[in-house]
Amino acid sequence: MTNQNEIIRLKSCAESLQLANSEIIGKYTLAELCSIYNGIGPDSFPEWLRNTISALHPSLAAVALIHDIEWHESDSTKEKFTASNERFKRNGYKVAKAEYGWWNPLRYIVMNDARRFGNLCQIFGWTAWCSPCECAVCRKKKEMENA
Ligand SMILES: [Zn+2]
Repeated sequence: MTNQNEIIRLKSCAESLQLANSEIIGKYTLAELCSIYNGIGPDSFPEWLRNTISALHPSLAAVALIHDIEWHESDSTKEKFTASNERFKRNGYKVAKAEYGWWNPLRYIVMNDARRFGNLCQIFGWTAWCSPCECAVCRKKKEMENA
């Protein structure tokens, strides 16, 4: 479980770097963000992606948070799917450039991986994008509707 301090850190990172669509984070409480960031579901592609990212490049975590919220809000359209994955790449480049100087090989490694992850989402993520979100926020909403 991601703790709220981690979410606060990612949020301020996204805002200070002015990542594209970082305002989407402000729509949710910290508790909601914790479940969206953690619990999109065991079969979901973004969670797999995010675990890989956290292990390889913690610097991309803020980018992944925005991407996760977009997937949580998915309307199952191809247009927004593609936009979300493109944004992941662009935000990844931004983070890489902000965190590492041009002389630092990490800048190019992070940029390259951000592009690869964005492309993987585009190729393999469509089913997950179209499936109902399984995070705690969405489960609770469903229970309320069925009650
Ligand atoms: Zn959700």
